[in-house]
Amino acid sequence: MSTSSADRMVLIHGTVADGRGDAPYQADVVVSNGVVESVIPAAARPIGGYDAEVIDCAGQIVAPGFVDIHCHSDLSLLAYPENESRINQGVTTELVGNCGMSPAPFAGDMAGLASVVSTIDVVPELKWQWDDVAGWLNKLRDTPAASNVAAQIGHGSARFAVAGQSGRALSPRELDLLEEQLEIAFDAGCVGASVGLMYAPGEGASAEEIYRVAKVVAKHDGLLSAHLRDYRSTALIDSVNELAEPAHRAGARLQISHLRATGGSGFEDTLAHIERLRDEQDIAADSYPYVHGHTTAIQLLPSEIRMTGPAGVLEFLSDDLPAGARAFAASGYLPEQVIVMKASARPESVGLSLDQAAGDPWQHLAQLMLDCSGDVDVAVESGSWNDVDLAMKTPWISIASDGTALNESHQASVPHPRSWGAFPAAYRRMRSLGVDIGEAVRRLSEAPAKRMKMSALIEPGLRADLTVFDEQIFSSAATFAAPAQGALGLQHVLVAGAPVLLHGSRTGSRSGVFLSKTNGGVTTQ
Ligand SMILES: [Zn+2]
Repeated sequence: MSTSSADRMVLIHGTVADGRGDAPYQADVVVSNGVVESVIPAAARPIGGYDAEVIDCAGQIVAPGFVDIHCHSDLSLLAYPENESRINQGVTTELVGNCGMSPAPFAGDMAGLASVVSTIDVVPELKWQWDDVAGWLNKLRDTPAASNVAAQIGHGSARFAVAGQSGRALSPRELDLLEEQLEIAFDAGCVGASVGLMYAPGEGASAEEIYRVAKVVAKHDGLLSAHLRDYRSTALIDSVNELAEPAHRAGARLQISHLRATGGSGFEDTLAHIERLRDEQDIAADSYPYVHGHTTAIQLLPSEIRMTGPAGVLEFLSDDLPAGARAFAASGYLPEQVIVMKASARPESVGLSLDQAAGDPWQHLAQLMLDCSGDVDVAVESGSWNDVDLAMKTPWISIASDGTALNESHQASVPHPRSWGAFPAAYRRMRSLGVDIGEAVRRLSEAPAKRMKMSALIEPGLRADLTVFDEQIFSSAATFAAPAQGALGLQHVLVAGAPVLLHGSRTGSRSGVFLSKTNGGVTTQ
């Protein structure tokens, strides 16, 4: 079978959940020239059949391709354009540039920015072949991928280009320069900006600075995505307000990233609080169906140590390793709750929780930091299943992975299973909680697309990104021990009208599109 997007084909005999959230219905979906040509109810099916290639979807749900509004494929998509981790869970569109991190701008100091965004720099062999945001976006545009991608500018990266790694307050002149960096990024094709108020140097942002960012975002009708300053349950509402207030004042669309409460109860109160804010302003959130987060080991240190920047942290640890161990222990987590996911110079420790190491577990982590020049990632069990389920049942919370584009061949780090399984895991969990099929599909597709001013409906004229799965079986097989597993029950995936997965096997097609305002991608095609 040819996989050219110009081909006409029909997904026949399927049950269509079109992304609107309503009950699914029997219909055939006709695809031509990369878009949905028509949706034909079973009763109106032509008697003589279709003059087109046919993909049999009997017994399957035909859904819009899933949209991952929060992921970190900024760099890995260039290394793994086949994007096996996303295609194999039905994700067809990714939004990158999250948590304040993007691999541009860097104002001449590429190595400096690389160390600041090391958490998204997961493929060591990948060369950064750009000087600025436009260059990075062009690279994404010119690298045919199996999936679509849209990009945001990371506030932390823009701040780095203006004032370097330090989290110090910006001068009035630097605030102007920061705005300028954001303007350049929007003009180059970004559809949003993100802040990461838990990461250096973005965490140095003042209220005024956040407002200035929100103002530029609003001017371009972009999305303001926010990794909050503090997800601990005791600080969560204040952290939401720190973003909601300036976003409201500036008129910016606000997306709270990977919303969850760590270290205690109170998530319900936060949801109720955001619910009230939603009466006044455009605010929503996304969430993943796991109790483990994934972050840099530096995040386990108190903020006064983090604020000294990567070099300062290493100096602190090498000066007094036991003090470093105590600082890590003060995070309050138990050693068995922390799994090492990346430690390039100490591969034997990857995949193990800290209690599995010989000697003092926190000193082990401090030593790993030194051995790996600070480039250590961890998965931390920091949430509760009760809270996950509250998020899964909340209509204004989209599903997002917080993961990355990867191929099975990826060796440099162990991915959190969410990179391969967040969408099927969330689907299964929502269904087990009584969420209807149509609504569950909406939360994976149209709900996040709408936040990005895009559309992920199955509708004539819209780009034919489609995911076909077996409703009874569709679930995640990815685990911490073996994360690189595609979803169970996933049959076909089409991107811009071309099959990238057929009968569970990848076709090698790379029909993905770079989405920006200027190419019309923000609206649909
Ligand atoms: Zn984040």
